Amino acid sequence: MTAKPFASSADLTEKTETLEVLGDGVYALTAEGDPNVGAVEGSDFLVCIEARATPVAAADWLAKLRSHTDKPVRYLVLTHYHAVRTLGASAFRAGAIIAHEQTRHLIAERGRQDWESELARMPRLFREPSSIPGLTWPDITFSERLTIPLGGNRGDLVLAHCGRGHTAGDLVAWLPTQRVMFAGDLVETKAALYTGDAFHLDWSTGTLDRIAGFGAEAIIGGRGAVARGRNAVDAAITQTRDFLRVMRVEVGTVHAAGGSRRDAFAATHAALAPVYGGWPIFEHTLPFNVARLWDELDGIDWPRIWTAERDREVWAELQE
Ligand SMILES: [Zn+2]
Repeated sequence: MTAKPFASSADLTEKTETLEVLGDGVYALTAEGDPNVGAVEGSDFLVCIEARATPVAAADWLAKLRSHTDKPVRYLVLTHYHAVRTLGASAFRAGAIIAHEQTRHLIAERGRQDWESELARMPRLFREPSSIPGLTWPDITFSERLTIPLGGNRGDLVLAHCGRGHTAGDLVAWLPTQRVMFAGDLVETKAALYTGDAFHLDWSTGTLDRIAGFGAEAIIGGRGAVARGRNAVDAAITQTRDFLRVMRVEVGTVHAAGGSRRDAFAATHAALAPVYGGWPIFEHTLPFNVARLWDELDGIDWPRIWTAERDREVWAELQE
């Protein structure tokens, strides 16, 4: 059997992008499973959500946004620290970059290694990597909640931390007036989860409970189409929870029985593949996901740092 190509290194086909207007001045750009981005208009400014992997990739998104509005970007909101969502930040010329306080900590602790790791895992997303000026540093951080008044009759944009989940420092961006939520990688719509830096128990219980509690009528997840309408929102949250539940059952059973990580990977793959196997990044992320959950079951609370080297070791052990 030929070895599977590493992570998403063989995924070189450009995706079709769709820019949707979800309300007056509320924009989401989805891309068939590539990382989503968004923007919200204030009375005389813009808030952009997520920065893409490089300034060149971010500039393509901004060019599309500029056909709708020429307001300046006052705030760039980063839902979490991952390189494919942060390293394009300089293209926005934002007045200030906002993130959760743990995101700032994670960038300081492992931003360099994460950059190298994600570049090797997802090279297509790093359009002209030499355009990246360096790590992205948030100017403003918060711990629980930060509210941005949008001015006029536009209401507020509420940034909220819902607990540990996809990382230690995820935020959701919530528009109470429009009932629209940008959920980062805490919720996916028909895309596989990445849980390599996650807290599986917290995420699948209290964190998703709090997200569901907002009562959103549209959710833009980290990847996949916009979930529009209560049924689609519920389905996206349920799918995310179910993916985590199956992982916890399968990896947990093998771990408790004294099995190996390879056994846990095989069992989890077999259990998830019938439903999720065809969804974007499923094969790419599963080895890293199982490795992280295995660590958690070993009592390692704080996620170990992924380096390009550790990525290859785990891939060789589990996926080849
Ligand atoms: Zn992520």
